[in-house]
Amino acid sequence: MKIKQLQIIVCLALCSLAGIQAQTQIIAHRGFWDKLGSAQNSISSLKNAIDMGAYGSEFDVWITRDSVLVLNHDDYCQGVFIQDATYEEISQLRLANKEPLPTLQAYLAIVGKQKTTRLIAEIKPHDSADDDVKAVGETVRLVGESGLDGQIDYISFSEHVCRELIRLDPRHRVAYLNGDKSPQELKDEGYWGLDYAWEVLKDEHPEWIREARELGLTVNVWTVNRVEQMQYFISQGVDFITTDNPQLLKGLLIR
Ligand code: MG
Repeated sequence: MKIKQLQIIVCLALCSLAGIQAQTQIIAHRGFWDKLGSAQNSISSLKNAIDMGAYGSEFDVWITRDSVLVLNHDDYCQGVFIQDATYEEISQLRLANKEPLPTLQAYLAIVGKQKTTRLIAEIKPHDSADDDVKAVGETVRLVGESGLDGQIDYISFSEHVCRELIRLDPRHRVAYLNGDKSPQELKDEGYWGLDYAWEVLKDEHPEWIREARELGLTVNVWTVNRVEQMQYFISQGVDFITTDNPQLLKGLLIR
C-alpha cells in the first residue's frame, strides 16, 4: 500500500473516532419542507429528508403544560402559547399542509425505522428554567426509551438547555447555536460542537472553523441557502451545512 493511501485511511479513521465526518453532510432545516404538500416541522418534512438521504433532519421542540413534546418553530402557534397549553389544545391546530403538529414521539417512531438520517433536535429556550429542565429531561427520557440515543444530536440557543443535556450525559452530542462562545470555551464546557449562523463563521470569526477542528469539535453552519455560500463552507471543510435547500446542496456535494 502506498504511503498516500495509508495517510488517507489513518485520517478517515481518526476523523471517525472523533465523530467528525470526512465530507460535509446535509442537514435539512426544519425537515425537507420545501416540497409540494409539506410544511416546516411536519412528519412529511422528516420523511422527505429521509427519502433524499440527508444526514439529519432538524426540528424545533417545546414542552406543553402537561409535559408533551411538540414540534413548532415559534413559541406561539395560531395564537396559542405552546408552553401554557395542554396537548389536547395543541392537537386541534394544523400546519400549513393540514397535518397536526407532530409530537417528538411520532418523530422518533419514524426515525427508528431507518439508519441513514439522524434527528437534530433543537430544544427551544422556554420561559422558565423549570420548563427548560422538564423539556430536556422528557426529551432524553423518550429518546432513551426508543433506543435512539445513537441517532440524535442536540442543539439549542439556550446555554441552560445545553448545560442540562451535558450534565445528564456528557456523551450527548450537544452543539451550541448562539454564536457567542469561542471553540475553546465550548470545548472546556463539554460541548460536541458549534452550530453557528453563517455570518459568524464567514465574516466575524472565520478562524473558529479551524480552531474547532483542532479541538476536535464539530462545525455546523446555518442557514445556508445560496450556492455560493454552500460552496464557501464546503471549501472550508465544515462537517454539516443546515439548509432549507437540501436538494441543491446534495447536487453540489456529488459533483
Ligand atoms: Mg431550529
